[in-house]
Amino acid sequence: MWKLENGKTVFTGGKNAYETAERAALQCVFFAEDCEEECVADEERSCYNCRYRRWTDKSFICTKGGF
Ligand code: SF4
Repeated sequence: MWKLENGKTVFTGGKNAYETAERAALQCVFFAEDCEEECVADEERSCYNCRYRRWTDKSFICTKGGF
């Protein structure tokens, strides 16, 4: 679910892989919920709602290095 690109950890699921993003966050010790207006997923815990993700054109990078 992750790939390294120019030293950055990129989520390979894109922006609509809600189940995968939830699974990743459930396994991650670094998860921290972003502020409410930045949360895009309904799931309580999801990389899409994590303050350590940075959106890119097609997906996001994890600034903690992914799981
Ligand atoms: S730190 Fe990275 S892998 Fe962990 S929940 Fe946040 S975005 Fe996902």
